[in-house]
Amino acid sequence: MPKDIAGSIKSVVYSEASARFVKAYEAKQLSSKLGSDWDKEDDPLLTEVKREIKKHYLQAQSYTCAYCRQKIVVEHNGAWDTEHIAPKDIYPGFMFVPENLCLSCKDCNGAKSNKHVLVNKSRRRFPNKSKDYTICHPHFDVYSDHIRVIGEAVLYLPRTKKGQVLIEMCGLLRFVYGFADYEIVDLNIGAKVVALGTALQNAQSGFEQIAIAQMLSTMLDDGLRAAARRELEKI
Ligand SMILES: [Zn+2]
Repeated sequence: MPKDIAGSIKSVVYSEASARFVKAYEAKQLSSKLGSDWDKEDDPLLTEVKREIKKHYLQAQSYTCAYCRQKIVVEHNGAWDTEHIAPKDIYPGFMFVPENLCLSCKDCNGAKSNKHVLVNKSRRRFPNKSKDYTICHPHFDVYSDHIRVIGEAVLYLPRTKKGQVLIEMCGLLRFVYGFADYEIVDLNIGAKVVALGTALQNAQSGFEQIAIAQMLSTMLDDGLRAAARRELEKI
């Protein structure tokens, strides 16, 4: 994990023109705001606000997804999604709040989608504290306090309930399931089982132990199935 986002992410500061646009939007009645306002294509001011957001968070996150922490060094706009931590379709009022914004990879954004992240779902004012969220929050929490990433094996171990919710919400176990059908599954499994075995020995809590045991079990099941299938194909 790059050092510069080891803590929480630095918030975007809008240019004067963009700040005026945001202020005007936020002054509107909540009932006239929609998540789809974000996607209007005929407003050059909105386009500029979105450009500033993306440019800022690419640097602030040093090309690293806020949720899976995979690094993707690609400038192209399409490689990154601007992510509304409290989803804009449910909370259009928080659409431009800097602390509700970050960048995520397509996979995490797709998995997280419009899932609820607030403890109090009917919040009107922007919730600006860690305890207001069910997931470990890119701005209000320190990722490594909640999730341990075993880099070599791309495994995510929850250290807290918030970490566990984020892992489930963003589908971070896809990195475990993802290789199940590859031809080289057995080679991967060997390396990953070793990494997991070490992690299990070093587990700092019962929570981590259970998570590791579940991953081992999934991996071994997948590996055995794949191996059995290959043996059957030889007959
Ligand atoms: Zn991601």
